[in-house]
Amino acid sequence: VLDGLRELVGAEHVLVDADVRAGYEVDWTGRFRGATPAVVRPASVDEVAAVVAYCRAEGIAVVPQGGNTGLVGGSVPLDGEVVLSLRRLSSIGPVDDLAGQVTMGAGVTLGALQAAVAPGWSAGLDLAARDSATIGGMVATNAGGTSFVRHGGMRARLAGIEAVLGDGSIVRHLGGLAKDNTGYDLAGLLCGSEGTLGVVTAARLQLVVPPRNVVTALCAVDGVEGALRAVRQLRAAVPVDAAELVLDEGLQLVRTHLGLPQPVTAAPAYLVLEWDGAVEALRSVEVLDAVVAEDEGRRQALWRYRDAQTEAVNAVGVPHKFDVTLPPPGLARFVDEVRTLGSGTTIVFGHVADGNLHVNVLGDDDVDDDVLRLVAGYGGSISAEHGIGTAKKRWLHLVRSEAEIAAFRAIKRALDPAGILNPNVLLPPL
Ligand SMILES: Cc1cc2nc3c(=O)[nH]c(=O)nc-3n(C[C@H](O)[C@H](O)[C@H](O)COP(=O)(O)OP(=O)(O)OC[C@H]3O[C@@H](n4cnc5c(N)ncnc54)[C@H](O)[C@@H]3O)c2cc1C
Repeated sequence: VLDGLRELVGAEHVLVDADVRAGYEVDWTGRFRGATPAVVRPASVDEVAAVVAYCRAEGIAVVPQGGNTGLVGGSVPLDGEVVLSLRRLSSIGPVDDLAGQVTMGAGVTLGALQAAVAPGWSAGLDLAARDSATIGGMVATNAGGTSFVRHGGMRARLAGIEAVLGDGSIVRHLGGLAKDNTGYDLAGLLCGSEGTLGVVTAARLQLVVPPRNVVTALCAVDGVEGALRAVRQLRAAVPVDAAELVLDEGLQLVRTHLGLPQPVTAAPAYLVLEWDGAVEALRSVEVLDAVVAEDEGRRQALWRYRDAQTEAVNAVGVPHKFDVTLPPPGLARFVDEVRTLGSGTTIVFGHVADGNLHVNVLGDDDVDDDVLRLVAGYGGSISAEHGIGTAKKRWLHLVRSEAEIAAFRAIKRALDPAGILNPNVLLPPL
């Protein structure tokens, strides 16, 4: 089998040495660890199609992998699958200035895309893992991130897609027409499918006009209710590009981890707010204290308190991570309640304007059921942006009906008839 793969992509792109494989076998958090006989690194859509067709014929399961920054165990070979790394598909086409669109390979990192389209355009997407997360992985997970509040997530940015389905066939629809009602929306379907229906090989993205005057503020607020009120007030005044919540425990954890000073008056909660407009917009917002940045260096310094939350939590231990959405009216009560669950330490932060919280529990491995049932009880979602992966498939039934899951299975059978693409992800075993 390895010889067959070597013929398709070249011997040097079938990685079998244990040391080289190691980085592909464990996820970013260190919580999900597996083993693979080989990591295959194709360089074109045709090579991807050939590998998928070959694996189908040989009955070999495949895990597509981009930057391996997904946090739900979806990108690692937990059951001896072959890893299909898309990182060599890393070319970025010219920006189409009239349409404001660009086509790129699945292996392009978000950071590389942001740099390539600036200063005329912005990707309209951002997240802390930008220098590793790939566009293919972000399509596969329908990534959200900090600018969701203004521009929506990956599905809203996706103007076209190229992918290899589970039978090895190539579907390509990269024209990027603004209006195109010619049947099923395959891009929308593959977006968020977590590598279970097809391997994304290229995407065409709709870019956005960059903000003219970016103002970033780190504000102290009296709690989650205060944070929601402040965001609402700011949104009434200006277009808000980001509204991120950090609780005091999280801020102190980052300070200890990075040796940073206390940035504003100590408070129960903090907001990183970013908007396009004048600094004065902050006058219409009720906060306890605020520091403002208008230059890039100061801006990045303020963002460290938010962006480093995930790495600071990981520096303490291996967390159980929950990425959930709550209906806004229940958000503050949920935060109070979730912190009382289990015997561990709970750090909560997130994209508060979207009702999306990242709940991290350290020191309690049995807390998943309680947290996810609490979320479902509030009418929330057990995955706001990271996906179901292998971590949450047992709980999919809490938020999706039997009929919905049956429809998922029918779609999976149609696009991946042999069930070789990410067989352990998303759908619970029958
Ligand atoms: C510090 C940090 C901050 C983060 N912040 C955010 C955030 O704000 N918002 C957010 O949404 N996510 C966030 N994430 C999660 C992660 O960055 C995203 O889920 C991202 O989209 C994953 O991209 P990736 O290339 O690393 O995918 P991987 O981790 O490699 O894969 C993720 C899933 O997609 C599948 N996949 C990967 N590539 C392909 C492909 N080409 N075709 C088909 N399937 C594929 C994999 O099989 C797997 O199921 C964060 C992660 C970290 C570590």
